[in-house]
Amino acid sequence: MTNPTLEKKDNLILEVKNLKTYYPIKGGFMRKTIGNVKAVDGVSFEIKHGETLGLVGESGCGKSTTGRTILRLLEPTEGQILLDGEDITNLKGKRLRDIRKDFQMVFQDPYASLNPMQMVGDIVAEPIMNYTGKSLKALKNEVIDLLKRVGLPEDAFYKYAHEFSGGQRQRIGIARALALKPKLIIADEPVSALDVSVQSQVLNLLKELQEEFGLTFLFIAHDLSVVKHMSDRIGVMYLGGIVEIAEKDDLYAEPLHPYTQALISAIPEPDPRKKKERIVLQGDVPSPANPPSGCPFHPRCPMAMEECSKVKPQLKEVKPGHKVACHLHK
Ligand code: SF4
Repeated sequence: MTNPTLEKKDNLILEVKNLKTYYPIKGGFMRKTIGNVKAVDGVSFEIKHGETLGLVGESGCGKSTTGRTILRLLEPTEGQILLDGEDITNLKGKRLRDIRKDFQMVFQDPYASLNPMQMVGDIVAEPIMNYTGKSLKALKNEVIDLLKRVGLPEDAFYKYAHEFSGGQRQRIGIARALALKPKLIIADEPVSALDVSVQSQVLNLLKELQEEFGLTFLFIAHDLSVVKHMSDRIGVMYLGGIVEIAEKDDLYAEPLHPYTQALISAIPEPDPRKKKERIVLQGDVPSPANPPSGCPFHPRCPMAMEECSKVKPQLKEVKPGHKVACHLHK
């Protein structure tokens, strides 16, 4: 008989355990560390092969820092990152370089993330050239296939990135991310810099590619409707931590955390006959350099109780696959 725990673990491509990324605050004459900006403060989640986990939250909640720390573009302060069962938290040197090809990033701003004066063929081939030592000439057919697959014409190979529109540039970025057949793609707000009219085309392309190549995504966005379109499961972040995580349909049908409820209430209802009450949150997101005591959401929470300012709620599974960090759900 198979062990169900092992079976589940075997299916995981990414495990993030109690991840923390702090930035030291220096001050005083000697520039000593006088505090920390707790950008990511104890984040844990898992992603299965072929799955898309959406991470959503307001700007500054730590979602992008989480993605960059997983990629080891930022050094984790604490915690563990396992990719396909291998602990990559403290990898250095050649092994880190080798493993980097297994996860790629699609960036938010296709204008800033590509060199406008570099030939597109070169941009897409560069990661393969770096890892295999093959020449651009040897990779030409492979790169043209990739360009065609992301919906670009064959002659894009010889053009420069500045000759393309935002949506096309994001397609170039996606082709580049796919070049090394990564195990995991971290897409950080991949459509938020694009016109609304091309956003859905790029999202649909990502979905098609996921099916075709069996890709796994960590999909980071502030827009809940974009995340809903893309994700199997969704984690909601607030002030450096995950406050709720669940299957997409569960989260939208029955959000348990007051912050998730407020975010979902703000999604416009396409049918004007359906009335929807919007929960308007008071105040701004507090600074991660000086987070509130107890539940980090308590100064803005319409349901806050006395214990909320004193005791920090832990993320707990309250229904199968549905976890929430709130004293209302024990
Ligand atoms: Fe609101 Fe308290 Fe729940 Fe925090 S723990 S979300 S303050 S009810």
